[in-house]
Amino acid sequence: MSDDKKKSWHGIPREEIPWLPTVDAEACIGCQLCYVTCGRGVYEMREGVAVATAPMECAVGCSTCGNICPTSAISFPTLDAVWKLEREKQIFKTVKKEALKKHEREDTLKAREAAQRAVAQVATRAKVEIAGEFGDKRFLVRLEELIGNKPFDVVNLKLEVPTVKGARQKAPSYMSFEVTSEQQEDIKPFLETVKGLVHDVGLVLVSATPVG
Ligand code: SF4
Ligand code: SF4
Repeated sequence: MSDDKKKSWHGIPREEIPWLPTVDAEACIGCQLCYVTCGRGVYEMREGVAVATAPMECAVGCSTCGNICPTSAISFPTLDAVWKLEREKQIFKTVKKEALKKHEREDTLKAREAAQRAVAQVATRAKVEIAGEFGDKRFLVRLEELIGNKPFDVVNLKLEVPTVKGARQKAPSYMSFEVTSEQQEDIKPFLETVKGLVHDVGLVLVSATPVG
């Protein structure tokens, strides 16, 4: 929370609001529960006793430390004075503006998270593995034709042929490559056309997996 926000409460200077904890030092057993619980740094422990050294940092209306103190050593004023100030200072005009800003912040955050999720779902690269007899299929030529002027490319191409004789005798070979988008577009629709080509030329698609 910013210093400005802490110093005023919905437009009312914090020092004008009579809401702060008071510790009964006689009743305090020094358990330190209030000290570790308060997220606003209101307390310090001095000689085994809790002392509210920054009482104006206390959140208006909060009474958590008082509620959990095992010896009920912490007390607060009644809320009547706070309610009176709410009416007199007409804080709800300010509250309405603050709520509007909060809604806007939350909407912006949600929109950003949705955009990040959408980006995360976009795969710009995919690995393809194919097996079969490549000899007279002209697969790479047709793949190149498929790419044409589209913003995709094929990289890390590897062809594993068992033996030279095997290739001549049309033994099955293994090919792997990665399809990438040159413009960070989703690769999945183009990947489908690559899969279609593999099928059309009679090769076996081992896998076609988006990798990011
Ligand atoms: S929680 Fe109560 S008893 Fe424990 S340190 Fe704070 S004031 Fe003292
Ligand atoms: S009431 Fe809440 S904000 Fe105030 S001192 Fe206790 S824990 Fe901290």
